[in-house]
Amino acid sequence: MSKKDIAKKIAVKRSSAGLGLFAIQDFKKGELVIEYTGDRITDAEAQKRGGKYLFQVNDNLTIDGTKRHNTGRYMNHACKPNAEAEHDEETDRIYIRAKKPIKSGEEITYHYGKDYFKRMIQPVGCKCASC
Ligand SMILES: [Zn+2]
Repeated sequence: MSKKDIAKKIAVKRSSAGLGLFAIQDFKKGELVIEYTGDRITDAEAQKRGGKYLFQVNDNLTIDGTKRHNTGRYMNHACKPNAEAEHDEETDRIYIRAKKPIKSGEEITYHYGKDYFKRMIQPVGCKCASC
């Protein structure tokens, strides 16, 4: 599937938590939603930069998704999400895939991870649908 095909299936819209990423076509379970792109930096560099779009893959790799063309950064956290992040170890890239079938019009969310949740979300309160 090309980037253009993916872009046709999602749109950035207003959600309960500010902007969010929405399906504008149905997704099958396991289908690719989008790649989380950005600067590929070390954990040390990530500590220096800070920010809320840091996606930590492991100790050696964090993806800084701050740049605007990373549409994946608009995806909100949910405690009971309909998508999940997958680390492709061969290419070291992060792909967001549908965890279950997603209907057109639904907001697409994934769990940001326990560490991120504790550090960035819990202190201000989670705004996801199930909380
Ligand atoms: Zn929540």
